[in-house]
Amino acid sequence: MHKLDNVLILAGTHGNELSGIYINKLIKDKLYNAQRSSFTVTSQIVNSNAVQSASRFIDTDLNREFSSVDNNQDTHSHERLLSQKFISEHNQGNNQLMIDLHNTTSNMGATLILLSNDQYYRKMGAYVKQQMPNANILFEDEKSWSEQAYLCTTAKYGVMIEVGAQAHGSLQHKTLSLMLELLTVLLDYVEKDNLDKLQDLQEYHAFYYTEEVHIPVDKEGMRQAMVHPAICGKDFDVVKQGQALLITLSGEEICPLNTLETYPHFINESAYCKKNIAMALADKRLVTIE
Ligand SMILES: [Zn+2]
Repeated sequence: MHKLDNVLILAGTHGNELSGIYINKLIKDKLYNAQRSSFTVTSQIVNSNAVQSASRFIDTDLNREFSSVDNNQDTHSHERLLSQKFISEHNQGNNQLMIDLHNTTSNMGATLILLSNDQYYRKMGAYVKQQMPNANILFEDEKSWSEQAYLCTTAKYGVMIEVGAQAHGSLQHKTLSLMLELLTVLLDYVEKDNLDKLQDLQEYHAFYYTEEVHIPVDKEGMRQAMVHPAICGKDFDVVKQGQALLITLSGEEICPLNTLETYPHFINESAYCKKNIAMALADKRLVTIE
């Protein structure tokens, strides 16, 4: 493991997720100190056009444009062109970590999304749980690094911060504070790892993404069900086999679980409306760091 030379903080990948956009402003205005001794830190707005229009994207979701195996997208979309420009500017193979800042309308608190189960990330999760026990660690490591479609995988190392619940286009103090706290812990982790000063990291529980739950629709595309009221707003709470995830418009409960328990998250994320995704599911596992 080489030490990291640079951390690039990314905001406005989705133009209506304001916490990161305002953290970028705090950094530029020197009201938040992201600098550390052992690496350089830069920050930037990624999709300025989307930020100006206060929308998630102009044509397509920028944060799904970075997989090396998916070429079915509109090649002339604003975001496809932006992704190619971003890759050409940043794909330099150096020891860089990208931290991409996001908000969610789901009640996920401060969540760190890790796209690899390598030891560097398992230790990162351990440090976050040590410093910020209320943070959630979510591994989405079911794909290889090059197959991941997320922007932060442009770099050799990349993670995402998701903080919510916050309505897209709004700016809440609580959400901004949680994002700043988690960002600070991540910068401290890189610093301490670079300087071999990490101490007393413990095993911890984390969530591992398994699948999405889609809402059934009729032939006109209208929803036939919604998230069950018992789990609305309860991201990362356990749901046991036999408990309902969805409820139909006529009140019939839908219990699709084949596993003994699961941990829903991204529950009712408004950005997933068009795809009729009700939530994602995860397993909860103990993570060891040796
Ligand atoms: Zn986002």
